[in-house]
Amino acid sequence: TATRLRPFMTTIFAEMSALAVEHGAINLGQGFPDTDGPESMLEAARRAITDGHNQYPPGIGVPELRHAVARHQREQYGLDYDPDREVLITVGATEAIAGAVVGLIEPGDEVIMIEPYYDAYAATAAMAVGVRRVVPLIPDGDGFRLDRERLADAFGPKSAVFMLNTPHNPTGTVLSDDDLAEIARLCIEFDVIVVADEVYEHLVFDGRIHTPIATLPGMKERTLRISSAAKTFNCTGWKVGWISGPPELIAATKTAKQYMSYVGSGPFQPAVAHALDNELGWVRASAAALQSKRDMITAALLDAGFDVHRSEATYFVCADPRPLGVDNGIEFCRSLPERIGVAAVPVSVFADDREPWHHLVRFAFAKRDDVIADAAERLRKL
Ligand code: PMP
Ligand code: GLN
Repeated sequence: TATRLRPFMTTIFAEMSALAVEHGAINLGQGFPDTDGPESMLEAARRAITDGHNQYPPGIGVPELRHAVARHQREQYGLDYDPDREVLITVGATEAIAGAVVGLIEPGDEVIMIEPYYDAYAATAAMAVGVRRVVPLIPDGDGFRLDRERLADAFGPKSAVFMLNTPHNPTGTVLSDDDLAEIARLCIEFDVIVVADEVYEHLVFDGRIHTPIATLPGMKERTLRISSAAKTFNCTGWKVGWISGPPELIAATKTAKQYMSYVGSGPFQPAVAHALDNELGWVRASAAALQSKRDMITAALLDAGFDVHRSEATYFVCADPRPLGVDNGIEFCRSLPERIGVAAVPVSVFADDREPWHHLVRFAFAKRDDVIADAAERLRKL
């Protein structure tokens, strides 16, 4: 393995999911739902296979999906993208992230990311021979906010890309409008491209509103906006993602992407187009159900003796096991599947400076209510 990839050998999701399987544990580690997406979308995929959509789709994605993605962003946010030049279909958000970073940066360029960061950002920056710079979240009441001093310090002459992630994995934080405005100001001042990972755009709770940074003045022309069907439509295995932005930034992403997977997910693309056009009601109901699952797992964790950080969005809630006498989140997560039959992931593996995150543990709650209730029973044994 190349030196620059050695820190990334096995993802924490693979490690914890393997432990969950080994011990028959409830997997609240890796974030994936245990129920299917809308039936009409599943049917559209079956139909696409029956109708012979089984060969390479076009490199930029099938037209009906590119048009549906463009329509969706216009209707949701008033963002206008040309479906032929400003939208690219990718093999999940993961490939959109990789394509953008590899397609845009020169060796030694700096990629700024919020810490804790989704693991693919760090690995992708390393593959592109970029240099990672982090801006930490800091505790704020029972939630988190961006460290604004460190934000300003992160920008400099080598800054090339800001990897923005809101709603944020792993903390479930929705960045404030004020934080977004400051990120935008700095990106404009330092001529930095924003790669905005918004895969949890629809999964926000308590009446919060997700604001794409591309809607801020002066930002659409320097933002690549990424989303995915995985979390919106409960189909993480389909790997249908998309990226939208100005033609020259999409062209750079496409150049890299066409040598990564070339194309992918042929019969699933028309099915996702159908879902974007017809199943937003299903998505709203799913987000409401997730909010109540968030409440269930939060109550269960508090009941088991954890301190719990507020989850404002996503599939995830972070819990502090120190009141239980535990301060090493990694060891705790390695032992949990065998001890009580529950898997979770430690947050510190998503940080360069692990110390502030040493104890913290992420639980995924996109599970059936009976599964969460079962997990709650098991957590009570701690
Ligand atoms: N970004 C974030 C923040 C994620 O949590 C995930 C996992 N869904 C991804 C990207 C990857 O998305 P996909 O499965 O569509 O590749
Ligand atoms: N995005 C999901 C998570 O954060 C799954 C990640 C993965 O398996 N690579 O849990």
